[in-house]
Amino acid sequence: MVFPLQGDDTCQSIAPTPLPEPYWVGFSSALGQELGIPLNDTGLPSDPRWLSVLSGNALEVEEHHFSNPIATAYSGHQFGIWAGQLGDGRAILLGDIGPYEIQLKGSGITRYSRMGDGRAVLRSSIREFLGSEAMYALGIPTSRALAVTGSKKPVMRETLETAAVCTRLAPSFLRIGHFEHYAAARQTEHLTQLADYLLDKHYKECKDSDDAYLELFKSISRRSAELVAHWQAVGFCHGVLNSDNISVLGITIDFGPFGMMDRFQMDHICNHSDSQGRYAYHRQPQIMHWNMACLAGGMLPLLEKTDSTEVAQQKLQTALEQFPTQYRQAWLKRFRAKLGLHEEHPNDFTLIENLLQLMHQNRVDFTTTFRLFAEVQSMTNDQSNPLRDHFIDRQAFDAWMQSYLDRLKLEHSSDLVRQSAILKTNPKFILRNYLAQHAIELAQQDDFSEVQKLLHILENPYAEQSEFEAYAAPPPKELEAIALSCSS
Ligand code: AMP
Ligand code: MG
Repeated sequence: MVFPLQGDDTCQSIAPTPLPEPYWVGFSSALGQELGIPLNDTGLPSDPRWLSVLSGNALEVEEHHFSNPIATAYSGHQFGIWAGQLGDGRAILLGDIGPYEIQLKGSGITRYSRMGDGRAVLRSSIREFLGSEAMYALGIPTSRALAVTGSKKPVMRETLETAAVCTRLAPSFLRIGHFEHYAAARQTEHLTQLADYLLDKHYKECKDSDDAYLELFKSISRRSAELVAHWQAVGFCHGVLNSDNISVLGITIDFGPFGMMDRFQMDHICNHSDSQGRYAYHRQPQIMHWNMACLAGGMLPLLEKTDSTEVAQQKLQTALEQFPTQYRQAWLKRFRAKLGLHEEHPNDFTLIENLLQLMHQNRVDFTTTFRLFAEVQSMTNDQSNPLRDHFIDRQAFDAWMQSYLDRLKLEHSSDLVRQSAILKTNPKFILRNYLAQHAIELAQQDDFSEVQKLLHILENPYAEQSEFEAYAAPPPKELEAIALSCSS
């Protein structure tokens, strides 16, 4: 079953609008293989009907019959303000494929399109495609992307661009906004169906509890705390953490004006439409917590089925208060691993915070800096470590490094074991904006090779891949500040 709700007030049965004369822009052969799609020797589906299906031009291929495509209703808080009904304005859910739901983003107008044209442009579709597959390869919970198909069909944004469709996959695309939608409409029956569906399919461990809905809330909240910790640990900024863009599975969804940080800046804002910095890097944990409060509001009627309002509120409030601790633990786990620390020590929080402060003050490149920790020798502080060269304030760096070396004395593993663990935790290759931009500009001239090449490199972010050394490099100065707007 795809979407657990029925009825005209919950979703619209609607076929995708065909994309004129489509062609392949990008395809993930790895994911295609996982789904059992027969591929030819160029790594594309052998059956040409896949191109039609993934462009929204057909609904049947091989054994797949996507006979009931839908767009779903949801609501949400955008930039902290209740926005009322939103919904799948340009994404159409085709059905199931393997363990996933399959969705075409940019496949035409639906009942929920409001003023939009139902389309997505090539630029943002390539970013979502590469962004999600890179995220997956990093080991971070995320929706996947199978393909991007393009067309010459013009689409107006700030300038004239062309249309594309990104095929997204996830075990479920349910969002906080779905819960908010039915809570606002006081449709407790629909809320119950949503929650029971999640318990049955995605949160089986909560199902048998006496307080299953409360347990469900707690689990979503814990997964979301862990997700943000993952993001912080690779320098990922989502860009638009509105409650309609937050999955209830704890996975990354809705890749829009996201960005992987190059030079580290705590208050980095990747979305230039976010003038207040609501979704800046250092605010992401707080904002996820805020979104969990939206979810708590959305789930309150479920608890009220068995508890008084006061008791239900109190239970959710207590659960919500666990978020900062869960986040902190997840964050410590991730950053300890990044520094090759297996043991737990009470001073680790300060040690890591001090490093991040130093990285911020020295504006060092986030990814290359962490990767260089694999070269630290625990017994020497001979100042020849290449890490040191990245910091302008050498004195402060040396002092911090001494505290790190002291900390390493409490570890039981050898340098070799630690170094190899560090290389498996700190990626060499991330989707830097300037790399994505280069691939996009070539694609806009009908050369899609760079999209495929980037995909290939980013599928193994922890491997040395020395033949692609240039792709590990921070951006040249003139390409550091590529502006990303919400327009997509
Ligand atoms: P987003 O900020 O991309 O998460 O989108 C917020 C809402 O606007 C969602 O309901 C989207 O479906 C809708 N939306 C965004 N872009 C378009 C578009 N070009 N056409 C129709 N709806 C859109
Ligand atoms: Mg969205």
